[in-house]
Amino acid sequence: MNHTGAIERAKEHFAALLNEQLKRIDQMKAEEEWADYSRIMPIIIGVAGGDGIGPFITKEAVRVLEQILAEEIRSGKVELRWISGLSIEERAQAMKALPEESLAALKQCHVILKGPLTTPKKGDKWPNLESANVSMRRELDLFANVRPVKVPEKGIDWIFYRENTEGEYVLGSLGLNVTDDLAVDFKVITSQGAERIVRLAFEYARKNGINRVSAVTKANVIKTTDGKFLDIARRVAGEYPDIQFDDWFVDIMAAKLVDEKRRREFRVIVLPNLYGDILTDEAAEFQGGVGTAGSANIGKRYAMFEAIHGSAPRMVDEGRAQYADPASMMRACVMMLRHIGLSQQANRMEMALDICGQFEKRIRITGRPDGATGAQFTDYVLETISNPDLLDRWQSYQPSGEAKL
Ligand code: NAD
Repeated sequence: MNHTGAIERAKEHFAALLNEQLKRIDQMKAEEEWADYSRIMPIIIGVAGGDGIGPFITKEAVRVLEQILAEEIRSGKVELRWISGLSIEERAQAMKALPEESLAALKQCHVILKGPLTTPKKGDKWPNLESANVSMRRELDLFANVRPVKVPEKGIDWIFYRENTEGEYVLGSLGLNVTDDLAVDFKVITSQGAERIVRLAFEYARKNGINRVSAVTKANVIKTTDGKFLDIARRVAGEYPDIQFDDWFVDIMAAKLVDEKRRREFRVIVLPNLYGDILTDEAAEFQGGVGTAGSANIGKRYAMFEAIHGSAPRMVDEGRAQYADPASMMRACVMMLRHIGLSQQANRMEMALDICGQFEKRIRITGRPDGATGAQFTDYVLETISNPDLLDRWQSYQPSGEAKL
């Protein structure tokens, strides 16, 4: 059978993709400086509730933010600004993955707190739009997805640096059915993209006195792209002789994370997009499920903070949205406060979340009516934050009695 026509179309498609990626490399080369939040007034925090359980848990997280930032909001140092247009209902109506007005409004903010956004998939009731999350990460160049996972009683203290703008996802909806029988997707790794994420991971380790960074790839099989990521990680590691560097294949790393003896040794883990997506969900399970974990999407100019989970439409369909755990969005707020330089406020919020969600657990969220509602959990967090014994209570659970304030 002659496939010349199909191959020519595929070549054209591939050439267009390569042009886009080469343009992106030029943009990365011309990258601007990091935002300096100490010089920005007011720091505008854009808040988008998302859809599904998103608006429920975002509302609760904002209640905590409003209390903890009361002084900064009053004095005009911080502004909370709601952003509309991003729910799946609104995106479907506009037939846009990311409506222009919403993107323009996001770009007026310095940092963004975002609830989960449904990504339509073939066969469900929504038009098959591109993922709003992926396009937001691309549009705002949020290249680092940072996800901490901590389980103090098991000795787990990991922070994942997942590359967010390349890998298998950047061209995820631009794959090609070359013929009826041949489907091809593309994976992209650039020198610039790999270097900036690896460097950010090492800088974090250095700033926080952490002496180990581990890279995860599948460079033994995916030789070209993962091979490049690993080569660059090794080169950058050479600039940080005080930090131990090792590399793992993603399959064995997935196993090591459940190995109770070995897993305590990992601290900072840097990895390409898809492996990061999978391993961080696995890791979050040790902490009490995806409802307890937040994540940061960091770029030089913008940064966006969110829960690691999705919009849990089934919880909404079953009338259980009010039982969704808002701790994930609150953990995202902690990362956001730290990112904009409000570490004292971040520490207080984190201590309250540790006490309420991990140590004391006076009330429990199960996601069902046999547990607390998100609003009840939030009341507990608010009461804990404003209680003068916050630090003592938190310290009483620390093996080392280490102070945070
Ligand atoms: P999901 O993460 O939304 O939910 C899976 C299950 O986890 C839920 O059914 C629920 O049992 C539990 N869960 C999640 N969050 C919870 C919370 N806060 N409290 C209690 N339980 C919670 O995964 P999914 O069903 O695969 O995805 C639903 C939609 O979300 C999809 O459209 C997906 O594309 C999207 N999504 C968005 C993001 C994002 O916005 N960053 C991330 C992942 C998935």
